[in-house]
Amino acid sequence: MPRHMTTEHADAVVVGSGFGGSVAAYRLAEAGWSVVLLERGQRYAPGSFPRSPAELGRAFWDPAEGLYGMFDVWSFKGCDSVVSSGLGGGSLIYANVLLRKDERWFVNDTMDGGYEPWPVSRADLDPHYDQVEKMMGATPYPLDQAAFADTPKTHAMQDAAAELGLHWALPPLAVSFAPEAGAAPGLNLPIAEPAYGNLHGKPRRTCRLCGECDIGCNDGAKNSLDHNYLSAAKFHGADLRTSCDVKAIRPRPTGGYEVDYVTYETTPVEGDGRGPRKARDLPVRTITCDRLILGAGTYGTTYLLLKSARDFPGLSPALGSRFCGNGDLLTFLLRSRDRDRVRPLDASRGPVITSAIRLPDELDGHPGAGRGAYIEDGGYPAFVDWIIQPFDLGDQIDRAVKFLWGRFTEFFSGAPDTNLSKEIADLIGDGALAVSSLPLLGMGRDTPDGRLSLKDGRLTADWTSETSTAHFERLRSTMQGIADVLGADYADNPMWFRKRVITVHPLGGAPMGRDPLEGVCNAFGEVFGFPGLYIADGAAMPGPVGPNPSLTIAALADRMATRILEGESRPVDTGAGPARGAGSPDGAGGETYGPSEGTRGGVPVQGRGTESGTLAGAGGTPPEGPGRTSLSFTEEMKGFVTYGTSDPRAGELDDRRERFSFRLTITADDVHRFLEEPEHTARAEGWVDAPGHGGRRPVQRGWFNLFAPGGAEDRRLMKYRLHFADDQGRHRTLTGRKNVLHGPPTRIWPDTSTLYVRILDGHVEEGGDEEAEVLAAGVLQIKLTDFARQLTTFRTSGPGGPLALVSFGRFFAGELWEVYGPDLD
Ligand SMILES: Cc1cc2nc3c(=O)[nH]c(=O)nc-3n(C[C@H](O)[C@H](O)[C@H](O)COP(=O)(O)OP(=O)(O)OC[C@H]3O[C@@H](n4cnc5c(N)ncnc54)[C@H](O)[C@@H]3O)c2cc1C
Ligand code: SF4
Repeated sequence: MPRHMTTEHADAVVVGSGFGGSVAAYRLAEAGWSVVLLERGQRYAPGSFPRSPAELGRAFWDPAEGLYGMFDVWSFKGCDSVVSSGLGGGSLIYANVLLRKDERWFVNDTMDGGYEPWPVSRADLDPHYDQVEKMMGATPYPLDQAAFADTPKTHAMQDAAAELGLHWALPPLAVSFAPEAGAAPGLNLPIAEPAYGNLHGKPRRTCRLCGECDIGCNDGAKNSLDHNYLSAAKFHGADLRTSCDVKAIRPRPTGGYEVDYVTYETTPVEGDGRGPRKARDLPVRTITCDRLILGAGTYGTTYLLLKSARDFPGLSPALGSRFCGNGDLLTFLLRSRDRDRVRPLDASRGPVITSAIRLPDELDGHPGAGRGAYIEDGGYPAFVDWIIQPFDLGDQIDRAVKFLWGRFTEFFSGAPDTNLSKEIADLIGDGALAVSSLPLLGMGRDTPDGRLSLKDGRLTADWTSETSTAHFERLRSTMQGIADVLGADYADNPMWFRKRVITVHPLGGAPMGRDPLEGVCNAFGEVFGFPGLYIADGAAMPGPVGPNPSLTIAALADRMATRILEGESRPVDTGAGPARGAGSPDGAGGETYGPSEGTRGGVPVQGRGTESGTLAGAGGTPPEGPGRTSLSFTEEMKGFVTYGTSDPRAGELDDRRERFSFRLTITADDVHRFLEEPEHTARAEGWVDAPGHGGRRPVQRGWFNLFAPGGAEDRRLMKYRLHFADDQGRHRTLTGRKNVLHGPPTRIWPDTSTLYVRILDGHVEEGGDEEAEVLAAGVLQIKLTDFARQLTTFRTSGPGGPLALVSFGRFFAGELWEVYGPDLD
């Protein structure tokens, strides 16, 4: 391939835009990092998903054949698999279920011979689950609302579970049933966009129960990642590049990483995704970065690492291991009857999945139950129509026989073409078959003993259902029980005759573990031996999640991002110029908080509200406790904001700008706790002064966060959140942040002096900024002399005051403290 070197550099490159990649890109961009996200697939706005038989027939991923569509179909020894390609990854075609991994299923066990080490616990993930659920708008199917009550399959599942004594529930779905949070659900209503807008710039409407979630939601009702995390990432300046397929990665001798990629010229022929040039003719571009985050999915990430292994000497021998399909089993209920009359299941009505039956695990306290599992109602995912064609072949029989014969012969040939997209595209041809029965989707804790490896340069999987026989038999017999209750015939999928499964939840390949023998990466996704290289996707799972895995993948990525931003592992200063090319070249319109052009070498750090220690006594009396040492200091900042803009930098420069200032006394009620807790939260009291709000107004409640890496010293992010009311009693919130680079005073300035602020409508809590209306934005400054004076305002009370003051002061101001801090001798 022709190589085209560039000097482009970013703080972070993210490969892939699925659940792991999107969360990581958003979190880092939001913290002010320059982020370039490379996604091989295309962007799909509402209304652009393929629907005609001809379009669907070409909606597969196989660039060598000129196919650049969404469905990437694989066939391995023991299993077939479907994953997605496109901006939003699997979320474009998934069934929206966001379930948490069951608390007791985070195991370190060798049950049934399969070793499954989870180096994280449910408690570790819960705050991140909260965060992701909120961002994705997860909500159960509103079965109790009249407009949504008529989904027969949901009631059928509930009836079957009751009859069989099994637990049934409506799991959270990332679907908009209501126009906005808290509003009444309704069919086909316009959806209110969050403050960061929508990267497609297209209107969205609430769910209309069409059952097409697995072929892309043309209404925009599905809260896929492009509508939330990726739109927010773009708003914060992330550079989202589609049709960019990463071909190789390697460490740089000077630190950081290099990423080679090609850009497909996919000039779509109205919806069919076919491009004019074959991949092999394309030039290779190279981008460098301090942090490389792999979110290319189980197959994409493991394949990249296997291909690039020579450049990563000492990579863990666990690479390729713990592959499994999350226990997936697809079966069918056919011809359901109720007292000699047809019982309609109407699989095409409703979102693809509406409800879930849970089979307990013996870890839940059910001796002899075996491994836990879930069974969910399926819809009409058009891309699996081919699976059940033997039941209703019609005039498609020739193509079906050709396909099955091809699959059969290659199964025994020993050299399978593992990527089946082309064959399935041929099979579906120009007429997808209607499916008349209800699919059941089973999943759970199978045995993660498969292995991904390279064979003749292709990805291959060594996996068998045999070591998970108990799991699959339990699923099948329960599904047969459901069929009996519903008067239906039960049918395995046609591949089961060879004990093959089709999985939509492939996991593992680059698993996390406690050490390099057990895993490729640690519990935060960082690859052992390669600081700054992270695995953020399904490949990092050390075993089956059990329920649908996307929420767990996203929560782990959120936890990883928090860790990165806290600076626990510091980037290697490459000495390269600032990240340019990153940003928002196509005018996303988002400002980039954080490091200004030319600053480099530090770690922007930020935490999440969900992980913060709560602010004891915020706005009230400092809790005096025995042994506690409190600390306070006073800060005054002045500058300008402009009403009607949300971009602080634009607000600072706008001709219509107005002055804005505040004076705050920041108090940490327990300085030692303040220094230890990850978000270092303190109280902020005082006033804001702005003509636009009626002059000087008291701060009703205020928070100050000083983030710092444990042990790392070179960069911090200070956050401010002030609740106040204007002279007409209208609630307002000031949110602001500034970066502090630690080092010699010359390097610290001007970052310490600059606070980027926004004024929001209402009293907005941490985590709610994206939904809030931005009234004004601008920049406040503090002069060096004022800052020096500020350092002299530090006060302590309680035991060990002077010592606490020194440790706080060094922590807060680094070397500036040594130069300008109070003389304590
Ligand atoms: C039909 C279907 C229904 C599903 N339903 C559910 C459900 O209801 N709930 C649930 O939790 N899960 C569901 N899943 C599974 C879910 O989609 C995946 O578990 C999830 O998307 C995995 O997230 P990820 O971040 O690991 O990778 P993915 O979401 O697969 O994203 C990986 C991305 O990386 C891109 N990529 C790959 N290689 C490269 C490369 N070399 N260069 C650049 N980009 C690359 C891909 O195009 C893709 O966009 C479903 C899946 C399918 C197929
Ligand atoms: S059922 Fe239809 S409208 Fe609702 S989320 Fe799925 S594809 Fe979108």
